Amino acid sequence: KMNTDLGQHILKNPGVAQAIVDKAALKQSDIVLEVGPGTGNLTVKILEKAKRVIAVEFDARMAAEVTKRVQGRPEAKRLDVLLGDVMKTDLPYFDVCISNTPYQISSPLTFKLLATTPAPRVCILMFQREFAMRLFAKPGDKLYNRLSVNAQMWAKIDHVMKVGKNNFNPPPQVESSVVRLVPKVPRPAISYEEWDGLLRICFVRKNKTLRASFFGTRSVMEMLEMNYRTFCAQNDVALDDGPQPKTMPTATTTPPTFFREEAERKARLLQGNPARKRKGKVAELVRAKVRRVLEVATGLADQRARLCDEGDFLKMLFAFNQEGIHFN
Ligand code: SAM
Repeated sequence: KMNTDLGQHILKNPGVAQAIVDKAALKQSDIVLEVGPGTGNLTVKILEKAKRVIAVEFDARMAAEVTKRVQGRPEAKRLDVLLGDVMKTDLPYFDVCISNTPYQISSPLTFKLLATTPAPRVCILMFQREFAMRLFAKPGDKLYNRLSVNAQMWAKIDHVMKVGKNNFNPPPQVESSVVRLVPKVPRPAISYEEWDGLLRICFVRKNKTLRASFFGTRSVMEMLEMNYRTFCAQNDVALDDGPQPKTMPTATTTPPTFFREEAERKARLLQGNPARKRKGKVAELVRAKVRRVLEVATGLADQRARLCDEGDFLKMLFAFNQEGIHFN
């Protein structure tokens, strides 16, 4: 009896199992990590090609099954079954990962594998079709999203094959696909948290301009201001320092009185409240920095996240960091 809450869909087609293992192009010296061996359909095929298999399985019944399957055979000595949740397991060294993954942990598992050091040579992973397509979607594709940019920052990803639901027992609700992830070496020297923090802001509304993504939400500016204060405190930067950029009126048709009235209104608001005054000034400074990054340093203010590639986001991240603006 399968536990579908654990994503237990056994790959019953041996041809597909063999094709997955073949795609890994294993060497006899390889240590292979398998996530969720289940009854061991992939495991036995991997053991034929690799030196060692480390199989992490959450379900004790399944762990027992795969262990029993090789019992008394020479390859039993080359299989380590680790009982537990792969997300909570400190993974030992491995060269290659092969997995018919439990679909409910697709995203965290992908990033756990991509964060592993040293990076595995290759990961051959079965995912549900739509998730797989997001992984390798390119700017402008309908499925292109934060996951796509994020995954492609750390790995080269391509589609290996489609697998219909009837190859599984029980058949899942959705179609599946096998993808190949080749982690970039060396690993890009940026902080995952910073990178992901930037992408979160840009992809909240991926069809809006980046200007709107940053300035259209008060909470974004508040967060960036808070981070900037932390940055200044940690780096001995005086908060009110830094060139106060001149903000140019953009609409030349706006009557000058508008600006004067605005200034007077702000002055009235700030009067007799030094804390508030300081706050307003830092908020202004941060807004000016963000504007400078989007409009001058990168020229991406009118661009939309769904059309930006990793290079664009990297450019933005560097420009923001140069201004002391951080995302974590
Ligand atoms: N590898 C087998 C196959 O291809 O026939 C089974 C694959 S099945 C889709 C996913 C397996 O992952 C199940 O055996 C399930 O118990 C296991 N699993 C689910 N969540 C897990 C987790 N968090 N950590 C480790 N294993 C997990």
